[in-house]
Amino acid sequence: MSTTAVNPAKAPGKHYRQGISLIELFEMFPDEAAARVWLEAEIWPNGRVCGHCGSKQTSEVTHKSMPYRCRDCKQYFSVKTGTALASSKVPLRKWAIAIYLELSSLKGVSSMKLHRDLKVTQKTAWFMLHRIRTAFAPDRAEQFSGPVEADETFVGGKAKNMHAVDRERRISGRGGVDKTAVVGVKDRDSNRVAAVVIDSVNAATLRPFVEDHTAETATVYTDGEPAYRGMAREHETVAHSVGEFVRGQAHTNGIESFWAMLKRGYQGVYHHFSAKHLQRYIDEFAGRHNLRELDTVDQMGMVARGLIGQRIRYVDLVASFPAGTVSVPDGEPW
Ligand SMILES: [Zn+2]
Repeated sequence: MSTTAVNPAKAPGKHYRQGISLIELFEMFPDEAAARVWLEAEIWPNGRVCGHCGSKQTSEVTHKSMPYRCRDCKQYFSVKTGTALASSKVPLRKWAIAIYLELSSLKGVSSMKLHRDLKVTQKTAWFMLHRIRTAFAPDRAEQFSGPVEADETFVGGKAKNMHAVDRERRISGRGGVDKTAVVGVKDRDSNRVAAVVIDSVNAATLRPFVEDHTAETATVYTDGEPAYRGMAREHETVAHSVGEFVRGQAHTNGIESFWAMLKRGYQGVYHHFSAKHLQRYIDEFAGRHNLRELDTVDQMGMVARGLIGQRIRYVDLVASFPAGTVSVPDGEPW
């Protein structure tokens, strides 16, 4: 989702973001029709458009699930056509509530909680959450003007091994068994974050990521990780190894607080991010972070519009798991 144009921190006269209480949420979405009106206004701000071909030559028809027909391509469509919600049978009201819950829960929402809150199966809840996550897919071409903090971390691993792995990491300075490396940047000016999963921590993965996500004039702060050396950016380091965590502006506290939130979600909500889906979880946390200054109603609109053009199929999500597997990929029971 491209949110480059929005810099809430700089918006005039905006000191406090407006949340939505649960009572207000159900007043906003008293029934299915209200949810449809909301979603149509977000998806089609300039009038109804065919989700198959993009034509504006459309008309209303009396079809239960496809209330519109395109006069150009002759196909029936609904507001879900051409979005990540295509062919979903879940009522739009439940989708709106799921989007709200996903945005208002800083550590994320487990499929078990959504299953209970919406009375859908846990399998449906799990698939819904992955579809909502596609709306957080960032604009990978966005470049931060800086100053920028860059840092890498390790996510995942079995909970019972966590202490040993953490100990190993402290000793070796590197990740451990079962862990997946992630590199991220945070722009101190806009507070925006970008992060991607990487195969390994080395100059060939870290340097191009930082250079791709920062303007040439940006100053970059990192820890003493040698792989960041030689970037085509003004670069300052802080040496964690000698206890020097903050030296003037040379610190990485901002990106580290983002990692801390990601890890609280991992430990408190999801318990396991499978490596296959990890980027989607990273996008969720970064996307939620980048929208956090907006009013909740505007956050919900951004997510609704982010669903446009996204497509994710259940068979692809579970493809790497053999038939008869008894747990969903997040390690949660069905
Ligand atoms: Zn059409």
